[in-house]
Amino acid sequence: MRLRIVNGTLVTSRGTSTSDLVCRDGTIERIGEAGHESVDDQIDARGLLVFPGFIDPHVHSRDPGLTHKEDFAHSTRAAAAGGVTTLLEMPNTIPPVTSAAIFEERATQHGRVASVDFGLWGLALGAENLSQIAALFRAGAVGIKLFWVYALHRQTRMLVYNLADEAAENLILPPDTGEVFELCREVARVGGLLAAHCEDRGVIAAAERALGHPITSYAEVLQARPAAAEAVSIAVAAELGAATGCRFHVVHTASRSGIRAVRRAQREGVRLTAETCPHYLSFSDDNFAELGVMMKVYPPIRGLDDQSALWDAVRDGTITSIGSDHAPHTEQEKGQGLAAAPAGVHGVETLGAVLVDAMLNGGLAPERLSWALSEGTARLYGLHPRKGALEPGSDADFTLVDPSATTIVNTARMHSKQPLSPWHGRSLRGAIKMTILRGNVIARDGEIVGLPRGRLVRARHTNGLTKSVDPGDLGFTHELEDAVSPDVMPATVFNA
Ligand SMILES: [Zn+2]
Repeated sequence: MRLRIVNGTLVTSRGTSTSDLVCRDGTIERIGEAGHESVDDQIDARGLLVFPGFIDPHVHSRDPGLTHKEDFAHSTRAAAAGGVTTLLEMPNTIPPVTSAAIFEERATQHGRVASVDFGLWGLALGAENLSQIAALFRAGAVGIKLFWVYALHRQTRMLVYNLADEAAENLILPPDTGEVFELCREVARVGGLLAAHCEDRGVIAAAERALGHPITSYAEVLQARPAAAEAVSIAVAAELGAATGCRFHVVHTASRSGIRAVRRAQREGVRLTAETCPHYLSFSDDNFAELGVMMKVYPPIRGLDDQSALWDAVRDGTITSIGSDHAPHTEQEKGQGLAAAPAGVHGVETLGAVLVDAMLNGGLAPERLSWALSEGTARLYGLHPRKGALEPGSDADFTLVDPSATTIVNTARMHSKQPLSPWHGRSLRGAIKMTILRGNVIARDGEIVGLPRGRLVRARHTNGLTKSVDPGDLGFTHELEDAVSPDVMPATVFNA
């Protein structure tokens, strides 16, 4: 099966060029002038931007467990419609992905319904599953997620956000600093990646005590969860990373103070990377009057000054990757009022469109968008160059963008189970025209095409694991194996 894409403008982290692409059996065969090879299908991409398929590294599909909010079939359809060809699924399901056995179970289950390719995160429970970390990476986990501030319920295996709500004997408490230190040592030993929700529990508790009553306004949300909680936690992460050599990734960075802590660590050569999310780049506390509880997320969306610091960090490479932190809830759950409503926002379907709009408005260069939504993310999670690259041998995953079109975000057209979107009604410049997964068109103009064909992608974190893993087990061809950089964390991941 051969597909040719002609006349498109290819956009990679290194620049843009007008070039044709020939794909064969799901991978890129050749890039350059159209040749004379016979093809089964041809797409004219004149006037369109051709990105390596967007990757959303931060999706909570709630499956299995809380599937009244979302499930994997819905979230991956939403991803495909939004231009995402690979998503990385967070592990805090019920049960969570805490062992290689659960990893394989989950891979099989999701493989039956996935509309896009997917990677799986593992979950760290401190000492409880320290012995499973190596096996999770050997299975191909994209990273290990540490919910630094949350406990886990022993019986229900659900995350517990408010520790005071539960009897202590029912809880697996969030790992203390010593346990995280041991975890870092183990992740460093196997050459993996540790990622965490960085907000210091002690700082939050002090802020809540100072407030003295349950939150009643958005200003109090920010008072009860100060930016210092994020910065302190990142500083601790940086020291743990420096002491152990562990690669540490800060998910959903939300504040200027947080970015300052990330920069400081990177300047000193600590292998600390950071993510932010489109809601932190699109909204500020000013939007609460309009959006209400829908925009409640943790860490919270802060002021315009924080937003501008995050944009600077995306532009200068301090932020390696942008993820949606897709975490839908029902309308009823979100309608419970500011104090009681769960934190989390819809996002996998709008991630691409929101960033394309920012690019077309001059907010970031096309190369930078290509990096943050594709190559940088693929490198970070051990998926490059199979994913995130427009190179011969890479998967033929593409996101085609029409820069001259306009997108009106409309939840009625979305594919999630609970498509409550803070972008609903917004007019965005540009449109996700087509999503192509391994040479197959899977979405066109926001509508799904064909049957689900997503597959598990096993990460290959190369520093430390190469000798103990059979490349065949990881689902890579040997050609690609050879092309993988010996170090998945080149300097460009810090500062490209
Ligand atoms: Zn999350």
